[in-house]
Amino acid sequence: MLFQKKIEPRCAYCQRSAPVDEKNVICLKKGVVSAAGQCRSFRYDPLRRVPPKPIMPDFSRLDDADFSL
Ligand code: SF4
Repeated sequence: MLFQKKIEPRCAYCQRSAPVDEKNVICLKKGVVSAAGQCRSFRYDPLRRVPPKPIMPDFSRLDDADFSL
């Protein structure tokens, strides 16, 4: 599956909004609202959501013995 079906609603990636600045968006229904807001009319636009960066694994505690058979 490419996109999650259950996504946390946010005005920042709603189909009915357009960005105004870093913290606000303009909504077709409510006008200027916070990008972190939400409502029942949320429609997910997967191309607008920026996913969080993946956590890098910490290899500092491992030594060469951990990588040999
Ligand atoms: S207020 Fe509702 S409809 Fe408007 S952008 Fe936010 S989630 Fe979408």
